Amino acid sequence: MQAKDSSAPFSAHALPSYLNSDHIGPWGNYLQQVDRVTPYLGSLARWVETLKRPKRILIVDVPIEMDNGTIAHFEGYRVQHNLSRGPGKGGVRFHQDVTLSEVMALSAWMSIKNAAVNVPYGGAKGGIRVDPRTLSKGELERLTRRYTSEIGLLIGPSKDIPAPDVNTNGQIMAWMMDTYSMNTGATATGVVTGKPVDLGGSLGRVEATGRGVFTVGIEAAKLSGLTIQGARVAVQGFGNVGGTAGKLFAEAGAKLVAVQDHTGSIYNAAGFDVNALLEHVQKNGGVGGFSGGESIDNQAFWGVDCEILIPAALESQITKDNADQIKAKLVIEGANGPTTPEADDILTGKGVLVLPDVIANAGGVTVSYFEWVQDFSSFFWSEDEINARLVRIMQEAFAGVWAVAQENKVSLRTATFIVACKRILHAREMRGLYP
Ligand code: NAD
Repeated sequence: MQAKDSSAPFSAHALPSYLNSDHIGPWGNYLQQVDRVTPYLGSLARWVETLKRPKRILIVDVPIEMDNGTIAHFEGYRVQHNLSRGPGKGGVRFHQDVTLSEVMALSAWMSIKNAAVNVPYGGAKGGIRVDPRTLSKGELERLTRRYTSEIGLLIGPSKDIPAPDVNTNGQIMAWMMDTYSMNTGATATGVVTGKPVDLGGSLGRVEATGRGVFTVGIEAAKLSGLTIQGARVAVQGFGNVGGTAGKLFAEAGAKLVAVQDHTGSIYNAAGFDVNALLEHVQKNGGVGGFSGGESIDNQAFWGVDCEILIPAALESQITKDNADQIKAKLVIEGANGPTTPEADDILTGKGVLVLPDVIANAGGVTVSYFEWVQDFSSFFWSEDEINARLVRIMQEAFAGVWAVAQENKVSLRTATFIVACKRILHAREMRGLYP
């Protein structure tokens, strides 16, 4: 009998078409990121196939009665990418462009992110292909409740815990929590995070992702000799993440000079009045029409003079077509997957320091973890305690990743993947395969 070669990877039988690495889009980008890290995994590379296949994919039909009496059907997803380190954790997105490939990639990035900051979760993500702006409040509530019921067999406080993402918020989390609780017969605050504070939500959760973006940005600026005072900042996406990060950088003495969202791009070389801009967005739904700056072309946004660029909208925004234009020294990825692998190489080639999503935007899931812990113990912490713990976790995680990047002479993205993939695959190896 031939001896078993323990260094050989698991045999990769033909992958289902939706897992194929030729796949263009976020999932294909994620697979390329895993390939880049594999040479650094040592003997754990034997298990790497597990990262290339989501553990579970659930596609659900979500029918609702519209206000005008018609019946509409929407397609929803919940993907659990990896549960080796704990229950699934990841947001729910309501957007007209949601696809299975996107949700798969987002779930995988959650596995990496949760391991990178060492919170005891696997990775998951969900979404519905819908433009929620076209729905009434009643329709949105019916959609959310039906979706929650449909994915009810996967989620639960110790199984998989959704949270807000693009176009979902505390109200939607409250409906999800209530629906799950009604279906199971007991109030289960820990089934979702990002809830309103009066329903077991955590102080500081709304700002947590933007605060994490700011925290790692400050650490990277220190290490790379960039002065924040007077630094020019451009932000794409001025919602939960981009709005908070922009405000914190402005409060620290930086100048927010350019912002782009789905309503257009605006510029002010002297720096915007950030509070006035946030108020305008709150009232009008976007930055378009803001009188405190001039409107610029959406393509021109990428070439504005700035030291710091924060993509905080959607995936694949920095591509080979606009990466060359970017003048920033520091790119902090608030969004998930905003930079394609080709663009990543172009930026690295230009000497731009990219703080990858899988560490830069991990502040949200970190405070979600605090929320979940507080819900289990029904004992709630002060906002100062939460922010202090958040900053400590982000600083420690970033310092660890920085050291791995220096040691291996790799990008911060590859370094974060090295740290995270080793943690996930070590857990996988220790647990072993069942049966
Ligand atoms: P949000 O809905 O609050 O804001 C999204 C922003 O993106 C809005 O300003 C919107 O106008 C803008 N946008 C949408 N389409 C755009 C387009 N085509 N061009 C330019 N701008 C566009 O969402 P959010 O919670 O701030 O999430 C933003 C990103 O951050 C997403 O990638 C999300 O996955 C990621 N993220 C969010 C959290 C969180 O806690 N909310 C945590 C980690 C990562």
